[in-house]
Order: sequence, then structure tokens, then C-alpha cells
Amino acid sequence: MGLFTKEIHSMEDLYLHVLQDIYYAENQIKKSLPDMIEKATNRELTAVLKAHLEETEHQIARLDQVFQLLGRPPKGTKCPAINGIIEEANDIAGECDDKKVLDAALLAAAQAVEHYEITRYGTLIAWSEELGNEAVAKLLTTNLNEEKAADKKLTTIAGKKVNLKAAG
Ligand code: ZN
Ligand code: FE
Ligand code: FE
Ligand code: FE
Repeated sequence: MGLFTKEIHSMEDLYLHVLQDIYYAENQIKKSLPDMIEKATNRELTAVLKAHLEETEHQIARLDQVFQLLGRPPKGTKCPAINGIIEEANDIAGECDDKKVLDAALLAAAQAVEHYEITRYGTLIAWSEELGNEAVAKLLTTNLNEEKAADKKLTTIAGKKVNLKAAG
């Protein structure tokens, strides 16, 4: 962020900024997922997180393609929002001494991550279409659909397994 000089002058600049934001976020998610997988004990939760780590790697590769299509080098810009979600997840996980409660906390944190990603991709897809970047919109839509699917799987686990077991 430029404190002394303003960096965002146009919609294209803003678009690039948000693209760099999700690129940074995806890379932070890739770094934090192995830790969440290690902490989780519920099998279904572990499986979803593992599958999503692999998807996240593909998502980053798709973002690399997006930068390439835009003729820009792949680059991230610090996203305080995703850092906050991950920091909060680590703080809360550190406070849980019951494994099932810990699973519920990890699941809730994972859903917060998915929802952040969903808003970012939603915005970027709308702007890509406005700017006429159809190929970019298509790549971003693939990522968005994976985030939505991951969120849906987490919701299913939350309803049927983790939360009920934690409550019981
Ligand atoms: Zn900036
Ligand atoms: Fe993602
Ligand atoms: Fe952000
Ligand atoms: Fe995700």
C-alpha cells in the first residue's frame, strides 16, 4: 500500500490490486492448510482439507495463467483480511483442548477462508467481464466453483458430524 503516493488510479489498477490480493491469499492458504490438516482429527474434515490443498495448488497455477493473459508478472500484495482469518484460526485452535471442539473450530475457520475467497473471485469475475477479459473470467470461475464446492462440503460436515459430536 502506498502511504505517500497513491497507487490506484484506474479500474485497471484496482482490478490488478484485487488480483494480487487473491494471489497472496491463495498462497497464504496453501501455507496454512498443512497445519490445519495436522490438527484436525475428524476423517471427513481432514479429507476435505487435503483435497482442497491440492485444489489450492491448481488455483494458484490458474492465477499464474491469469497474470500471463494480462501480460503481468504473477505477484501478490499483502492481504490483511486473510492474514487476520488465519491468525484468528490459529489463536482459537490454540485455545481448544477437546479434539472435537478443535475440529469444529478448524471447520468454522476453513469456512471463513472459503467465504473470503468467494467474495474476491465474485468481484474479479464481474470486473473481468466488464473489462472484456473473458478468458480470465473463465479461469477465475473455475476457482470460484471449487471454493463454493469446498464450502458446501464443509457445511455438510458441520451439520452432520463435527458440531453434533462436539456438542454431545
Ligand atoms: Zn498498494
Ligand atoms: Fe482458493
Ligand atoms: Fe484482501
Ligand atoms: Fe478455498
